[in-house]
Amino acid sequence: MVPPLASLRIVIVGAGMGGLTTALALAHRGFTQIEVYESARDLGFVGAGIQVAPNVSHILQVLGAWKYMADDAVEIDEVSIRDGVTDEELANSGLGHIQKLYRQPHRVAHRRALAGALYAACKDAAPRITFHFNTTVLHVDFELPRIQIQAKGESERHWISADVVVGADGVKSIVRKTMLARHGEEDCAEDTGQAAYRIMLHRDQLAQDPELLPLLESKRTLRWIGARRQIIAYPISGNTILNMATTQPDVNFAAAPTMAWTTRADKSAMLSVYDDFCPRVKRLLRLVPAGEVCEWKLRVHRQLRAWVESRVALVGDACHPALPHLGQGAAQAIEDGAVLAFVLSKLTRAEDLNTGLLVYERLRKHRAEFLVEESAASGRALLLMNGDAQVKRDEAFQRVKEGGPNPDKWIDRKVTDYLYGFDCLADAETRYEECFAQVKLAT
Ligand SMILES: Cc1cc2nc3c(=O)[nH]c(=O)nc-3n(C[C@H](O)[C@H](O)[C@H](O)COP(=O)(O)OP(=O)(O)OC[C@H]3O[C@@H](n4cnc5c(N)ncnc54)[C@H](O)[C@@H]3O)c2cc1C
Repeated sequence: MVPPLASLRIVIVGAGMGGLTTALALAHRGFTQIEVYESARDLGFVGAGIQVAPNVSHILQVLGAWKYMADDAVEIDEVSIRDGVTDEELANSGLGHIQKLYRQPHRVAHRRALAGALYAACKDAAPRITFHFNTTVLHVDFELPRIQIQAKGESERHWISADVVVGADGVKSIVRKTMLARHGEEDCAEDTGQAAYRIMLHRDQLAQDPELLPLLESKRTLRWIGARRQIIAYPISGNTILNMATTQPDVNFAAAPTMAWTTRADKSAMLSVYDDFCPRVKRLLRLVPAGEVCEWKLRVHRQLRAWVESRVALVGDACHPALPHLGQGAAQAIEDGAVLAFVLSKLTRAEDLNTGLLVYERLRKHRAEFLVEESAASGRALLLMNGDAQVKRDEAFQRVKEGGPNPDKWIDRKVTDYLYGFDCLADAETRYEECFAQVKLAT
């Protein structure tokens, strides 16, 4: 169905998971003038895996993107939590119930496949969506609204006017920074004191090791935990790549605070961080070619008072960056984009654009911010120092098979009910009128 305001000019800053989904969902709803401005020269494919939980795959299917990544995705049917030092299994959870309860299995995939699928589906929607790569947004004027852009290699800057501006520009968001500055508030991405290595091992690298190759050929996620460190590993890309992501105290970035948030890291430094882990983990880490070790500084931002100002709205990491322990950062950005497009499609008058964006904020903020907190809490439980609390946590892992809560929250039943059992589009349908009336009353 064509939405009443189909010809709105909607400008999106950033072509990450949030920006791509917003563009695609808007086109899917029938909007015809969607422009995406991205500073990188392409989608900036990052060599890393990503959890594609049931709440995400449902949206990807609705938007027609799933078909482009179905072959890459691997269904996970088991999670094994292990002591990093001894390799002893602390808990084992089958995930067969996920499909039964939430109508989709739990999957993992290459980030490139997910971003590529969203982009391919956006291309299917041409000419409704136009991409401008190599173009940085420098300023946002909230009054009109409009954005100031500069294309790479060009000295001139241009203003682009829009009916709606969407800031999907990630944790370092310029849109958020400008929004906060209007209220005299400082933008302060917070250091979490944690960093992450992201590693990918290909079949030929694992083929010679009969103990490591089965990790690639399985449908298992393994998580090794040790004092203040953890490593998660799962197969992606149709079981051809073993993806590993670690979390450990940030030493390298802290030692050089002006460094970028991501960097090629030193392999020997990585090996020494996990020096006391079991031989299996150390063999995996040793397989990473020097020069292919990437390290991420993990940062979040304090909770924002508002995600919306005038006709400008934030989505994804720009407004709720989370630690990766629940694997829901991109998932929440994707939910944001889908809900934002739904809300705009319901509006009948351009005068209601700010109201509509505030309805979007009302529908999304509580859930996304709850997940930011839960991710941090899961990290605290996983990254304990050895001691009494760690012993109690490991005992709790042992009680999981008797129905006890799982300290690794992304597979705890209560959390999965909240995370995966939620259909953001159905929720938006149900609550839209009520939220619209509440916003009207409040403004
Ligand atoms: C180690 C690690 C593991 C993770 N694992 C998972 C997982 O398993 N599952 C999951 O769901 N999430 C995971 N996440 C989180 C997830 O990566 C992010 O939440 C998600 O990518 C956020 O998407 P986004 O579109 O909001 O922001 P981003 O992906 O950061 O995209 C922002 C885009 O905006 C562009 N941009 C920025 N500024 C400008 C500007 N001024 N002008 C133009 N363009 C601009 C950037 O180049 C970028 O392309 C993980 C994160 C980390 C660090």
